[in-house]
Amino acid sequence: MSRSEQFASDNYSGVCPQAWKAMEAANRMDEPAYGEDSWTQRASDGLRSLFDTDCDVYFVFNGTAANSLALASMGQSFHSVICHELAHIETDECGGPEYASNGAKLLLGQGENGKLTPESIEHLVTKRTDIHYPKPKAVSLTQATEVGTIYTPDELRDIRTLADQYKLNIHMDGARFANAVAALDVHPSEITWKVGVDVLCFSGTKNGLALGEAVVFFNKALAEDFEWRCKQAGQLASKMRYISAPWCGLLENNVWLENARHANASAKRLADGLARLPGIKLRYPRQVNGVFVEMPEALQAALRAKGWRFYNFIGGSARLMCSWATTPAVVDQFLADVRQLQS
Ligand SMILES: *Cc1c(COP(=O)(O)O)cnc(C)c1O
Repeated sequence: MSRSEQFASDNYSGVCPQAWKAMEAANRMDEPAYGEDSWTQRASDGLRSLFDTDCDVYFVFNGTAANSLALASMGQSFHSVICHELAHIETDECGGPEYASNGAKLLLGQGENGKLTPESIEHLVTKRTDIHYPKPKAVSLTQATEVGTIYTPDELRDIRTLADQYKLNIHMDGARFANAVAALDVHPSEITWKVGVDVLCFSGTKNGLALGEAVVFFNKALAEDFEWRCKQAGQLASKMRYISAPWCGLLENNVWLENARHANASAKRLADGLARLPGIKLRYPRQVNGVFVEMPEALQAALRAKGWRFYNFIGGSARLMCSWATTPAVVDQFLADVRQLQS
């Protein structure tokens, strides 16, 4: 399998050239450790300028840590966090958020296409208010969602209005934040602090880094002592510049946005091609870089036998993910293989 002959995940892809180059530049000289270096300063300033606001920025190794530590900073161990039942923090983080917060409970809400609705959140907040129930303190939204859909600025505003009513903090799992910004064609501030997001976990990994997520606190009060939380959790990189320099590579010339646009366009090409074929149905609307399709088991098996890689998701639909590295030729080859297997 060559690097890009797969649709398993955006994190199968390698490091984009701009990030690689920045890492190489950071390797030329000694620099202070633990984030006291010039690259970390530049990357943090770059994120402040990108979001057009004075936010606090921390870099950690992966998304599970970013989410878990960010959520832990939003409440006490007796609080709860409302998230969608399909949320990564519920299904794929091995209890990380509960562990990092010493026991805060996740309360699962519903909503079509992987999106929490204000009604579902309100139901969870109001169904119990007694001392025996963990008190809701935060809402976690995934943007773009686990099923490749996006919250519009209006939807986010409605959730903020409700959150204000019940004094809830808002956390955003931005594993695919870049893809959401690209798809909505908005300024990053319009789906974060301007609609009351308190903390964003902005993924570099799925956008084209080797590793490294930025935890961005728009609500700076929540960031109090966050560096100690990171250190205790084993998330303070001593050679921090190897995370932050590649971030500089992503931020310069909006490479992050170009990477996301490319991934989204690749998924659109794939979805459009698949939609034209018989017996194949899109399970969710294709909005970012993932295509979720229902196709016969035998066809899936035959594609895998040809070497294609992809995961199955919820009720057997195939999840086909594109990244910065997905080429049109690979998309077309996949479509050609499907057509050939169907004939
Ligand atoms: C990939 C992903 C993460 C982060 O996962 P790690 O493997 O811990 O880096 C978080 N949320 C969502 C929705 C993801 O897809």
